[in-house]
Amino acid sequence: MTGLFDHSEGAGAASVVAVAVNAGVWKSFDYLWPAGLGEAVAGLRVQVPFGRGDRTTLGFVVGTARPRGERTLKSVARRLDEEPQLDGPLMELAGWIARYYVSPLGMTLAAMVPAAVGRHEQRSEAVVYLACEPAEVRSVRGPKQRTVLEELHEARRQGIEPLTLEQLRHHSGASAATIRSLAGKGLIRLAARPVTLEQLDGQVEPDPFELNEDQSRALAAIEGALAGGFGVTLLHGVTGSGKTEVYVRAIRRVVEAGGQAILLVPEIALATQTLERLARRLPRVAVLHSGLTGAQRAFHYQQIRDGHASTVIGPRSAVFAPARRLGLIVVDEEHESGYKQDTAPRYHGRDVAIKRASLEGVPVVLGSATPSLESLHNARQGRYKLLTLPRRIRGLPMPVLQLAELRKEIRPGRVELIGRTLEGKMATALDRQEQVILLMNRRGYASYVFCPSCQWRMECDDCTRPMVFHQSTGLVTCHYCQATADLPTACPACGKKLLLFGLGIQRIEGELSRKFPQAVVARMDSDTMTSPKQFRRVFDDFAAGKVDVLLGTQMVAKGLDFPKVTLVGVISADTALTIPDFRASERTFQLIVQVAGRAGRGDRPGEVVVQTWHPTDPAIQFALTHDYEGFAAAELPLREAVGVPPFVRMVRFLVRHARNDRAEAGAAKLAGILRRMIAPMPEVRLVGPMRAGVFKIRKLFRFEILCHCARGGVLQAALDGQMHDLSIQVGAEIVVDADPVSLV
Ligand code: ADP
Ligand code: ZN
Ligand code: ZN
Repeated sequence: MTGLFDHSEGAGAASVVAVAVNAGVWKSFDYLWPAGLGEAVAGLRVQVPFGRGDRTTLGFVVGTARPRGERTLKSVARRLDEEPQLDGPLMELAGWIARYYVSPLGMTLAAMVPAAVGRHEQRSEAVVYLACEPAEVRSVRGPKQRTVLEELHEARRQGIEPLTLEQLRHHSGASAATIRSLAGKGLIRLAARPVTLEQLDGQVEPDPFELNEDQSRALAAIEGALAGGFGVTLLHGVTGSGKTEVYVRAIRRVVEAGGQAILLVPEIALATQTLERLARRLPRVAVLHSGLTGAQRAFHYQQIRDGHASTVIGPRSAVFAPARRLGLIVVDEEHESGYKQDTAPRYHGRDVAIKRASLEGVPVVLGSATPSLESLHNARQGRYKLLTLPRRIRGLPMPVLQLAELRKEIRPGRVELIGRTLEGKMATALDRQEQVILLMNRRGYASYVFCPSCQWRMECDDCTRPMVFHQSTGLVTCHYCQATADLPTACPACGKKLLLFGLGIQRIEGELSRKFPQAVVARMDSDTMTSPKQFRRVFDDFAAGKVDVLLGTQMVAKGLDFPKVTLVGVISADTALTIPDFRASERTFQLIVQVAGRAGRGDRPGEVVVQTWHPTDPAIQFALTHDYEGFAAAELPLREAVGVPPFVRMVRFLVRHARNDRAEAGAAKLAGILRRMIAPMPEVRLVGPMRAGVFKIRKLFRFEILCHCARGGVLQAALDGQMHDLSIQVGAEIVVDADPVSLV
């Protein structure tokens, strides 16, 4: 581990440092370190001129006091930190990520520290104190001014003085000018104080209920783990079994003992009220959602680093939170593929959490109603401790799932998505003023542009994927590169009339308004929503009962807790089955069980209708009875037989180039080199090169090579330090994805 950052001798005079730049390059570069920048320390962020045109680029000092070579060196342009942002364990973690996920060290480090950190001074806010007696308040004439003083008086009575200027304006309705004029008269006093997190007072809401027996048992086991250093606990609790409550109490133990905790959640969960409710139960929480500005993110980061924030809740990147008194990491919904980043560094938030915990000697809890087969396998191998919450809280029944075979459900010749059974149950639920969630399990459920005469299909020129028509914009869009085009008026191949073919989400909206004209339908998918605020608005409206039917993609399956939902409909369970990936069955099973879990969380029992063309598919059959064990028992032997995860680790290489021949030649070259490299490693098997599932994306042709390794990290160890030479020899871009979660 040392050796990565060598703190050798020689501080002082203008020296030479090695810098890992934030770019797709596989080695560090030497720069002059001007004496005026103070002492060079490994881990400092700097700006350096880099590449063509000497663009100012972020970098990290990774080696100091280097010998000066023959070449004239460029100079470090700016030093960005007083002290390195990442200390020991996080630096070590960066080195591990760079090696294991085969990502450039500079890019890895840059992903760990929010860009705006250090760019802003400590923010301050204006606060207002009362500076007069109650008698004086009454003597003030202006009604606005009076209200201001009364508000402040009330605040003093409640012991919450001073109020921030913002709060005071909000409560009193007075303008800033009014408030300033009161200060001018000496009736109130304005002051500035550094901004801190809202909850820094450490107040928490009281526990709303006692843990049940299952929860108490799980908590006791986790508490036991808190004393024992590093260890992984897999908490397998059915939907609605109260896993969150267990996390809250375990985190509180850590905080009460003076430690800090990190809770990783799927991105979409950060847009829900559930999370806010949870945050109110914990003292001094920093929530890192994607709606934060750069400055706010930097601010939270600093609060964590300074130890003011004791709990961090956030998506995968929160695993890098600079908590120096880390005592626990919890990964909720650990099976979520969203924990894997799909750009470099291609790390898996859950697995990095486990690595970090092992480096820092603290426990990790992974929670899910449908644990990934990787985690289950690890538990069975004895590497993780398994805890279960087999029942819903308050003895609520699991929702009842019913299969609706589309072949029999839809009248022949009709283009319909909602079959007879689902329609009937929706009518009943809506009559009873209950709510319905409908899952369309893929984005771009939309319409392909298709010629029924000659079979021509509109494809993206750059990606060779079908383009999809969106009613809202009236344009055709490629979901891989976002390229848009006009809808052709006729088939460019034969001139005949075109058909919009597919199960467009717009089409289902049309069907809903025909069948349930009274129902208020809200739609949630990443095509119509771009900001967390928009998601939040839909969730809030649904929670407030302003919406009857929530229609959406995978997002509606994740961790929502709405007690009035009694019916969940899966429009078609089949689309997830058809993705070209060995995890297709697992995804289908997870999706159905997770979305079914949204039903019947209140007083009334829940029902789920799963529509399908393939009623005998095992993934669907096991999901119908919430039979996770059964699914695992059927799926694992298949995986073992073909030699895919969790029985082996995969490393995927993509070779891409704008020219097909260069990509193909590069892939062949790389495969040759890799074959020689793994010759002495019988535990590594190589498949390929072959065309990637999606052959062309964003104008780049793609070939893939898959390596299956009996043990994790062996291939990466062989690649360590080789990537620079390799990319030169291959002559095309190499993308390495260790433990890929998607094989598109
Ligand atoms: P999960 O994450 O396992 O799906 P949640 O943690 O969301 O389940 O809990 C489901 C609901 O049950 C929540 O509304 C939660 O507040 C409530 N709950 C959790 N534990 C208890 C308990 N011991 N008694 C009563 N209600 C509980
Ligand atoms: Zn495209
Ligand atoms: Zn045609």
